[in-house]
Amino acid sequence: MRNTMTDEIKIEGLVIFAHHGVYPEETKLGQTFVVNATLFMDTRAAGRTDDLGQSVNYGTVCSEIYTFLTEHTYQLLEAAVEELAAYLLRRFPLICGVTLELKKPGAPIRYPFDSVSVKIHRAWKRAAISYGSNMGDKMKYIEDALSSIEDDENVRIVAKSELIETEPYGGVEQDAFLNGAAVLETLYDPEDLLHFLQSLEQKAGRERLVHWGPRTLDLDIVFYEDEVIRSDDLIVPHIDMHNRTFVLEPLTQIAPGWIHPIYQKSVAALLEELEGRQ
Ligand code: ADP
Ligand code: MG
Repeated sequence: MRNTMTDEIKIEGLVIFAHHGVYPEETKLGQTFVVNATLFMDTRAAGRTDDLGQSVNYGTVCSEIYTFLTEHTYQLLEAAVEELAAYLLRRFPLICGVTLELKKPGAPIRYPFDSVSVKIHRAWKRAAISYGSNMGDKMKYIEDALSSIEDDENVRIVAKSELIETEPYGGVEQDAFLNGAAVLETLYDPEDLLHFLQSLEQKAGRERLVHWGPRTLDLDIVFYEDEVIRSDDLIVPHIDMHNRTFVLEPLTQIAPGWIHPIYQKSVAALLEELEGRQ
């Protein structure tokens, strides 16, 4: 989708005294930690303008890392570094990904060693979702869901389509649908995103009665980056998206060029094909 993962700002060997560890001595006495951080972002705007306002201030990032690691206590390096990565990605919107390494040179190991460390890469991931409602105050169910999505710290809405009215699908006699689509950036992995969307369906009072039957709110994952997923409860790209005008039409408004990773065709091309078949 985008190629902003190429530029890097690097912080190496940031030393912080903090209190993470499994052993009581570690949380009580504390010890030295060393952080290496690579911040992935597009630095071209800052490069062209020579303006710090267009970039991420690495001094501020260092003090945020310091504050975060000294104000929290984790047993595991894994947990500390996971939470720190999410914190930095939320705190600095220009940063689209981070590689973080947290080292413990004084870990309680009774053999000679230089240091132990955990290194992870985390990033905002792009997802496309579609939604529909055909019961009650349809507009309100959709607007409430979108504002819950906006309020979640692990999701940002990048683009929203217009809502379109569509006739019901799947042969069950029911009211017309209101449908739309959105492009998101999220820190959730695909399974967590599904569970988050399902929690919004539940909040809207959705009961799973008739398959393809009336629903207060249906929220589906259409794409997650260019990933192909087939697990028991999640199929991505959405298995039927290429047959659904009410998915392709809104999505074409906001992401016409997104390539379906299996069919290798853009959303706009899939819509055109579907219209040709109808
Ligand atoms: P539909 O959306 O096809 O009308 P439901 O909303 O009732 O049907 O979803 C049924 C199941 O589909 C859910 O329990 C969910 O686990 C599964 N599912 C599989 N892939 C996806 C996806 N990409 N997005 C949302 N749900 C999915
Ligand atoms: Mg669904």
